[in-house]
Amino acid sequence: MIFKLDDYKRELTDDEILADIKSVASSLGTDYISIATYKQQGKHSQCAIQNHFGTWKNALSLAGLRNTRTSKELKRISDDEYFSDIRRVALVLNSSTVSYNDYEKYGRYSCGHIFKRFGEWDNALIRAGLNPTGMSRKRISEQEVFDEIERMWRLLGRQPTSTDIVKNGISIYSYDTFKRRFGSWRKALEAFVEYINEGVEYSLGEQIRPNTENVTEDISKIDKKEIQPIHENTSVKSHKTSRNVTTRMRFLVMKRDNFKCCMCGASPAKDPSVELHIDHIIPWSKGGETVMDNLQTLCSKCNLGKSDLE
Ligand SMILES: [Zn+2]
Repeated sequence: MIFKLDDYKRELTDDEILADIKSVASSLGTDYISIATYKQQGKHSQCAIQNHFGTWKNALSLAGLRNTRTSKELKRISDDEYFSDIRRVALVLNSSTVSYNDYEKYGRYSCGHIFKRFGEWDNALIRAGLNPTGMSRKRISEQEVFDEIERMWRLLGRQPTSTDIVKNGISIYSYDTFKRRFGSWRKALEAFVEYINEGVEYSLGEQIRPNTENVTEDISKIDKKEIQPIHENTSVKSHKTSRNVTTRMRFLVMKRDNFKCCMCGASPAKDPSVELHIDHIIPWSKGGETVMDNLQTLCSKCNLGKSDLE
């Protein structure tokens, strides 16, 4: 009997994949390639790309390429190309329908573009010969609508406009969804601001009352101010606030900081691979409280760098 080792499987590195993406793009003489093109001409699988970078968009921006199609390029995609890709995902999932979450994961095109072209997700499914998910008829909860507004706001790094939804198709919900629910886009934003401000502590002891008249003003009044040390004496004492930063507060801190890293200025609006974190300026372990004045937005890199220094 002969003992023999399996071939040694070397771990694929990010750089190797990125180099291959770059070389496919340069061989085609373009600064944008779709995942479909890459699958035909590149060396690595969609699965490997997902494992390494999460999304194709991230992979493209890390490879230094353009990560979205121009509207001209978008127009060139035919309805049938969308349908056949949705059917492909259904086949992969062995299902007669595809939710947009699944499509976001496995599809080659952006869900936003499909919404924009077909109005509703279910319309695209029906026209692709699949079963509707029923999602468009289901009443979307208020929480889901607010979560979506928050997602768009973070993505854009500014207040989303009705144009972003109608013309740029960045929302997973149609403009009508917001209009039906709140009366108008402006009213949807007002409701969101009210929701996001509720119960957030701006500084020690000062609690914002959910006063519906002033909330719109409150959010716009938050200026970037000089951070004053809260405690001269940093000996650990009992905290007045919880260490946990609520979703609301997280959003308000990022909004105050213009959705940019306070140290290096990196923003997801410019580079989708940037991940923003909320940092306690005076660390929690040294008595820092979870209040607006003691929180700042940092990118993951600067946040890691900061904790190394402590
Ligand atoms: Zn940074």
